[in-house]
Amino acid sequence: MHNIYKELGISEEVYAFCDEILRSLKPRFDKIDELAEINQLKVIDAMQKNNVSEACMLGTTGYGYNDLGRETLEKVYADIFHTEDALVRAQITCGTHALALALMSNLRPGDELLCPAGKPYDTLEEVIGIRDSRGSLKEYGVSYKQVDLLNNRDFDYEGIKNAINEKTKLVAIQRSKGYQTRPSYSVDQIGELIAFIRGIKPEVIIMVDNCYGEFTEEKEPSDVGADMVVGSLIKNPGGGLAPLGGYICGKKECIENAAYRLTSPGLGKEVGASLTVLRDFYQGLFLSPTVVASALKGAIFAANVYEKLGFAVIPDSVEDRHDIIQAVTFGDKDKMIAFCQGIQAASPVDSFVKPEPWAMPGYDSDVIMAAGAFISGSSIELSADGPLKEPYNVYFQGGLTFPHVKFGIIKSLQTLYERDLVTLK
Ligand SMILES: *Cc1c(COP(=O)(O)O)cnc(C)c1O
Repeated sequence: MHNIYKELGISEEVYAFCDEILRSLKPRFDKIDELAEINQLKVIDAMQKNNVSEACMLGTTGYGYNDLGRETLEKVYADIFHTEDALVRAQITCGTHALALALMSNLRPGDELLCPAGKPYDTLEEVIGIRDSRGSLKEYGVSYKQVDLLNNRDFDYEGIKNAINEKTKLVAIQRSKGYQTRPSYSVDQIGELIAFIRGIKPEVIIMVDNCYGEFTEEKEPSDVGADMVVGSLIKNPGGGLAPLGGYICGKKECIENAAYRLTSPGLGKEVGASLTVLRDFYQGLFLSPTVVASALKGAIFAANVYEKLGFAVIPDSVEDRHDIIQAVTFGDKDKMIAFCQGIQAASPVDSFVKPEPWAMPGYDSDVIMAAGAFISGSSIELSADGPLKEPYNVYFQGGLTFPHVKFGIIKSLQTLYERDLVTLK
């Protein structure tokens, strides 16, 4: 084993350091394999129950009426998430679009949206109108309330109770921390929050932003009372094969609202040709539980490597995981750049490219991004990025196979080591 790594430029010291850590992680990885097995069986069971057939892979053109593959896939998603219905479409362009669609189709002028667990994902600020934007919910007369977490990062139950009023129509909860420093929520924590909110206002619609969370636990937020779960197909459930797309699973009425908004009132789910994407949607979903397991193992490996070297890591080396994101605080520009360049150098695609910090629209500092992905922008594939400013946090996620993530982490450390930026101990 060591010889092949040597040929790929990994020194003996770096290999030995990583190998020892990996050996210690075996029991934890066994648990993740068990999780993958449970979720794999869940997916196979849903496919079998709904008679997924060769014909389902074919796809339609034009209006896309009677699209067997599309309709069956939506039933499969509804079964996996234990919801009444689902909307799984190539016409949903990304995660933000899926979330905007779920919100805008289920809220009406005069309604209020509540975020009970702090600020939502950056791109939703313009959707909601927290940052003024053309066509935001605010422009359509939907008001917004936010209850921040307490200093100890618990939900502010008193504040949430006070924030719920006669206008509160929809509550949005984000499972993954995304690029914040708060912890990601377990499905059980989300369940407690949902139960509390239902106790105050039973009829409110509860939506969970499920991005990066799918298949990281045995349960999904829709198993603990969420009316809608929403996500992107170029993250977990696309399994690295879906070339685009998004999904919303939930109550029949919520999904109908979303379908009427995605296409048109009256047309709803009946139209939307699937062209040639269905095979990738099915096969990606089939692979997703093991792909997510690889990403989880990679995140845990990275946390253990960099924590041992003295860097702050979120989540830490032993914490339970509720999403696939790993943050490492490098506290230094050169270390951060070396890490990202190492990840890039281990990629199957664009390995010869050297990522450099760059000014990006929407950011107040330079950003560095490492991604050698088959699908552009796919973050279920091994990728790392972060803003070049204090405290020099890198967010690292994905990996279609564990051997690839393993190589990526080892290569990142090799890069830091060669530039004398770390001492192995
Ligand atoms: C990625 C992500 C989104 C947005 O998805 P895009 O596909 O990038 O538009 C929203 N919420 C969370 C928590 C995410 O991780």
